[in-house]
Amino acid sequence: MVNYHNHTILCGHADGSMEEYVLAAIKNGVREFGFSDHAPLPEHLREGISMLPEEAEVYIGDVLAVREKFSSSIDVKLGFEVDFPRFETFKHSYLSDPRIDFIIGSVHYMGDWGFDNPDQQNRYKERPIDDIYSDFYRLVESLVDSRFCDIIGHFDLIKKFGQRAENSMSPVIRRIAKKMSAYGIAAEINTSGLYKPVKEIYPSESIIKIFFEENVPVTLGSDSHSPDDVCRGYDAAIAMLKNAGYRKVSGFTGRVRHEVEL
Ligand SMILES: [Zn+2]
Ligand SMILES: [Zn+2]
Repeated sequence: MVNYHNHTILCGHADGSMEEYVLAAIKNGVREFGFSDHAPLPEHLREGISMLPEEAEVYIGDVLAVREKFSSSIDVKLGFEVDFPRFETFKHSYLSDPRIDFIIGSVHYMGDWGFDNPDQQNRYKERPIDDIYSDFYRLVESLVDSRFCDIIGHFDLIKKFGQRAENSMSPVIRRIAKKMSAYGIAAEINTSGLYKPVKEIYPSESIIKIFFEENVPVTLGSDSHSPDDVCRGYDAAIAMLKNAGYRKVSGFTGRVRHEVEL
């Protein structure tokens, strides 16, 4: 069992100590536990959302210390959740830093619109929903094309508040899936959506089926912002993956992917 999406207090909207997260993971039977806190965003977007650029080294040191402390019980991995395309203030040398085990690439912004921010939900009404979905998946495709990350975070986050595209997005999703498969980029099965207005895992079951058909590797994460969130919803995620045909999930060491039994 792996869990590759977990935050820390450095981002400004999570609670609990790193040790509490790791203890919760051990309690849940996790073998590989990845911290993936929000990498620094541009200054005008950053407050309460991401760590400061100068905090990145503090974060790395803290994760490495907790890895050492719990090394006999669990394998703690060091990662970042990096915003695409808003990652200009994340030092790009981290992308080739041998200490980093994995990078999650996530789309949370369309321009300056933080579309997953509950305070900015009214902007879904500004344009036809299919145009918004198309723009969102265009960004996800660019993220995949950029090939800088190991995992695509919450692949269909645009559904968070329950707005649905009227036309099928399957053709573009399949095109992106084929690229992920060719590049060896994993999709994250993220359980946090179960506790958001949409009440669904990211991505939806129909997308997970496309991923399986296209041979896209997958990993698991609870996108925890509190130790209580660690592995919340995992039974549903594992059942969904098995139902789609998956028997293995991915883990990462030094940005190299390996597979473990589901
Ligand atoms: Zn967060
Ligand atoms: Zn995210």
